Amino acid sequence: MKSVDFLYSDTLYKSPLYKKYYKIIDFYRKASLEELSKNADTVCRENYGNKVFLRGLIEFSNYCSMDCLYCGIRKSNTKVERYRLTEEEILSTVKMGFKIGFRTFVLQSGEDSFFSTKIMAGIIEKIKNITGGGAAITLSCGIRPKSDYRIFKNAGADRYLLRFETSEPALHHYLRNGIPLENRLKALYDLKELGYETGSGYMLGLPGETEEIRIKNALLCVELELDMIGIGPFIPHPDTPLANEKKESLELTLRATSLLRLLLPKSNIPATTAAGSISPNGRERMLAAGANVLMPNLTPTAYKKNYLLYPGKICIDEDGEKCISCLSFRLNSIGKDICFERGDSIKYREGKKLA
Ligand code: SAH
Ligand code: SF4
Repeated sequence: MKSVDFLYSDTLYKSPLYKKYYKIIDFYRKASLEELSKNADTVCRENYGNKVFLRGLIEFSNYCSMDCLYCGIRKSNTKVERYRLTEEEILSTVKMGFKIGFRTFVLQSGEDSFFSTKIMAGIIEKIKNITGGGAAITLSCGIRPKSDYRIFKNAGADRYLLRFETSEPALHHYLRNGIPLENRLKALYDLKELGYETGSGYMLGLPGETEEIRIKNALLCVELELDMIGIGPFIPHPDTPLANEKKESLELTLRATSLLRLLLPKSNIPATTAAGSISPNGRERMLAAGANVLMPNLTPTAYKKNYLLYPGKICIDEDGEKCISCLSFRLNSIGKDICFERGDSIKYREGKKLA
C-alpha cells in the first residue's frame, strides 16, 4: 500500500497529495465556518443541484464480535439488549420502504457471524427480486474476507460502507482494540477491486485526534477515491471505556464536511444521524455545508432503541414514513429537496463509463 505511506510517517507536509491539495487545505485552515460552508455548498449544488438523495437504513443486527472502544454495541457491553431481525422482517422493511419510494437500502450491523456468507447472499438476492432489481443495496457490516465481498457482489450488492474511523495508525489500533488500520484499508481496497461503489469515512473529535490527523483523514478519502464519505461527531457512550471523554462541538464535523466537498466535489456525502443527535439542526447544517444525502432509519421501531452506537440518537421513536414528511419540511429551510432517485455517485458512474 505504497500510496498511503503518508499515514505512517511524519511526512504529511512533504507528501505529493498534501502539496497537490495545498490550496484547498490552506483555505480550510484560514476560512471561517461560514465562508467554508458557502464555498462547499456552491460546489455541491454545481454537481447535485438542490437534490438530497435518500437511503433507507436497516439496522439488522446489534450483535458484534468486535470491541471498538467508542461503540455502544461493542461486545463487552453487557447492558445491550441484543437482537437480530429475521429474514422476513428485513424483507418486509424493504417492501415498505420501496413502496414509500426508497431506491437504496443500507443493511447495517455489527460483525455478526450468524449472518453467514450464505444467509447474507440469500437476503441480498431476495431484496433484488422483490424490488425488481430497481433498488441499490448497500452493505455496512464490517470487515469480511474478500471472498465474501465477491459473493455478496455477485448476489446483487452494489455498495459497501466501511469507515476507517481515524487515519492515524496508532490511534486506530487503540480505539479498535487491537485491530490495525491496515486491515481496514485492505478491506477497502478489496471492495474497490470488486467494483463496489465504496464508502468510508471517520469520526470527528476522537480522543487524541489533532488537526493534522483531521487533514490526514480527509486526504485519505481522496487517496481512496471514495464514492461515498460518511463522517460524524464522536459521541461518548456511558457504557464504554470512552465514557468520560470530551464531546466536541458540531463545528469540527461541519468544517470537515466542507473540506471533503471541496476535495471530492462528486462524492456522495451523507448528513449523518450523529450530527443531528448532538445539535437539533445538525443534519440541515451538514447539508448546507456540502453534504447531499440523508439516511432515514427504517429499522422496525421496536428494535431501534437497542442499536445505540452512541447516546441521544434521534428519530428512534418514529417510523420511516413519518421521517420523510419531517425531513422534507426541514429541507425546505435550506433550499433543498428530497430526491428518490438511486443516486449512484457521479464519480462512480463516470468511472464505469471509462472502464
Ligand atoms: N460494524 C460496522 C457498522 C456499524 S458501526 C462497522 O463498524 O463498520 C457504524 C459506525 O458508527 C462506525 O463506523 C462508527 O464510525 C460509528 N460510531 C460508533 N460508535 C460511535 C460513537 N460513539 N459516536 C459516533 N459514531 C459512532
Ligand atoms: Fe462492532 Fe462496528 Fe461497533 Fe466496532 S463500531 S463494535 S465493529 S458495531
